[in-house]
Amino acid sequence: MRIKKPFKGRRSFGPLFSILAGLLLVAPLVLAGFAGYYLFLKDAKKPQVALSPEADAASLKRPFTVTAADEESGIRSVTVTVTQGQRRADVLRRSYDPPRPQVTERFTLEGSELRGGAFEMQVAAYDGSLANLGAGNTTRLTRRMLLDLVPPSVKPLTPAHYVRQGGVGLVIYEVNKDVTRSGVVVGDAFYPGYKQKGGQYACLFAFPQDVEAEAFKPRLFVEDAAGNEKTGFFVNMAIKRRFRDERVEVTDELLAARLPAFAGLFPEVRDPVERFKKLDTELRRQNDATLAGLAAKTAPVPLWDGAFLYMPRSVVRGSFGADRTYAYKGQDIARETHLGIDLASVPKAPVPAANNGKVVFAGPLGVYGNAVVVDHGMGVQSLYANLSSLAVAAGDEVKKGDPVGATGTSGLAPADQVHFAMYLAGRPVIPIEWWDGHWLEDNITAKFKRYAPPPAPEP
Ligand SMILES: [Zn+2]
Repeated sequence: MRIKKPFKGRRSFGPLFSILAGLLLVAPLVLAGFAGYYLFLKDAKKPQVALSPEADAASLKRPFTVTAADEESGIRSVTVTVTQGQRRADVLRRSYDPPRPQVTERFTLEGSELRGGAFEMQVAAYDGSLANLGAGNTTRLTRRMLLDLVPPSVKPLTPAHYVRQGGVGLVIYEVNKDVTRSGVVVGDAFYPGYKQKGGQYACLFAFPQDVEAEAFKPRLFVEDAAGNEKTGFFVNMAIKRRFRDERVEVTDELLAARLPAFAGLFPEVRDPVERFKKLDTELRRQNDATLAGLAAKTAPVPLWDGAFLYMPRSVVRGSFGADRTYAYKGQDIARETHLGIDLASVPKAPVPAANNGKVVFAGPLGVYGNAVVVDHGMGVQSLYANLSSLAVAAGDEVKKGDPVGATGTSGLAPADQVHFAMYLAGRPVIPIEWWDGHWLEDNITAKFKRYAPPPAPEP
């Protein structure tokens, strides 16, 4: 058995003491060194600061967003100060304990008591480091801006607007100052207006087929560069339209013919009928989003000339706005609103461009098969779907009557056809109005001539 030796530390107390004393002398120097390192080196990076929108004009209500980030020591505080002559006000003052890696704050100039005119906005963000004698690294952002307190006003020039459900109306209006955005709001849809050569604005807007006449309350909307907004009503006569019910039989032959093209999609769904339903809902939703996105690729002026062309020698196999039920062996399997017109002729019949314009899409588009979209300007676009072949490519300019492709059975077409559809600002509208020369003259062309005439040429 081993016996522990008694502790002998006390005997060496003298040397230990001198080491401790030495440490006490050195420690402040070491600490100061660390502090110095911390103060000047550890977080020498300044916080990142961004202010949006990047506008040089502001209104009292326009919301601004400031974001500040600092990876190393975090954001300790953010302030926004405005100055105008002798006037100075804090419009935002926030501190964070503990500091946060990233902060986002919104503020407005309400309560700043600024007057209309020039002012300066200064954003400052401080990080959580001990730099600058403990104040932290600071980033300042200064912007000179104009406070615009004059709201835009909007006055409709066209006196009355008869709009039929699913169809389109044209309102021409003038505004008292430059606006950055204007148009017509219908529910959650926005139809942009376009400035005309004479200075007026023109906006084609729709009475959506799924909105009841009593609920159709379009409003004119304008917004200036400072973010001042104005909304106004204008006279509308909403006319109800009846839509059909349609039934499409989905047979085993149809499924066998159409489904192989979609073999790569939804592999987890094996049953043919379930696959059809899945494609008709989920894939269609994606394809509709693509079509809606094409609205951004529109010319600001009308490219069309006169009535749109109806495909010659064709019959209507499916109508716009129809409540369409798909049935399989007597059972209803899917339901959708049909938002185009199915036109059938002989198989692989040539399909003409309905009017002058520019091709903004040409290629495969899911349930729509091979598809072409032609832009006619001011948000008006035509879709030709289920084609067997394409005769144009994106970017091509087409004239009314030029072939864009040939009818076919691509996508989920029930038979050889072209699914023809008209879109306004990315939303389907009824095509018959655009085929009707009288409607077009009375509701669009005559209004342009009368209320938005081009300026007289200089002598
Ligand atoms: Zn169709």
